[in-house]
Amino acid sequence: MVLDDVLLKYMQTAVRVVVLTGAGVSAESGVPTFRQAQTGLWAQYDPHDLATPQAFQRNPALVWEWYAWRRDLVSKAQPNPAHLALAELAQRVDQFALITQNVDNLHQRAGSQNVIELHGNITRIKCADDGRIVTNWPESDETPPKCPDCDHYLRPDVVWFGENLPRGALERAIQLARDCDLFFSIGTSALVQPAASLPLLAVENGAVLVEINPDQTPLTRYADYALHGPAGEVLPALVQAVWG
Ligand code: NAD
Repeated sequence: MVLDDVLLKYMQTAVRVVVLTGAGVSAESGVPTFRQAQTGLWAQYDPHDLATPQAFQRNPALVWEWYAWRRDLVSKAQPNPAHLALAELAQRVDQFALITQNVDNLHQRAGSQNVIELHGNITRIKCADDGRIVTNWPESDETPPKCPDCDHYLRPDVVWFGENLPRGALERAIQLARDCDLFFSIGTSALVQPAASLPLLAVENGAVLVEINPDQTPLTRYADYALHGPAGEVLPALVQAVWG
């Protein structure tokens, strides 16, 4: 892979590096993006129709089961070279922040710390009523299970379409995007707001923008460098080229 020398220099000298990731970063771990076809039982559903509060209200058992299937899928998946390269990048640069739209916990399992989770984390379960995280609940045949404290349904601790982002996470992400020198947008279609506006905020404030994605996105035309390839190949190549 031919990498631009100026980009490598930026990576070497940048003081504040911010990375925003999306589902594409986990594609090479076998976790399907929302736009990739699903298999078997779930092939008939559009994930966008299941990841909403309305869907949970309409059919809580269906939504719970879909997330249980996804939770099982991500627990069996392994971090890929892209996740590992980002954990390594954090060690190399002066100030580093990783903001993710992913809920699969793979960055954390690859060793990344202080990950800003914009859309929550599928491995956590919370009470659908008050949002309190629940780690144990009584065995029952009910689907979804009920909160042990208040008898409301339990649900995954993820942000559904139409819901607010976790308090603090978005504010931190905005601040980081405003203050960075180098911003990477990796494996995201740059369509889901407000995450999609973070790279533009960085550009407005003078940062160099690098996009890594095999496809074009609405962000591509704003990128100083658009690296069209799978993150699991491009990121390790960048880290290798700069730090050996
Ligand atoms: P998206 O599905 O809209 O887009 C995925 C992007 O990744 C596409 O632009 C695609 O071209 C790109 N891509 C595919 N393979 C890639 C690879 N190997 N390397 C780099 N890029 C690759 O995903 P999004 O932008 O993250 O937004 C969808 C929403 O769905 C988010 O809110 C996210 O929380 C959720 N989601 C999360 C997961 C996960 O946690 N793994 C999976 C699916 C969806």
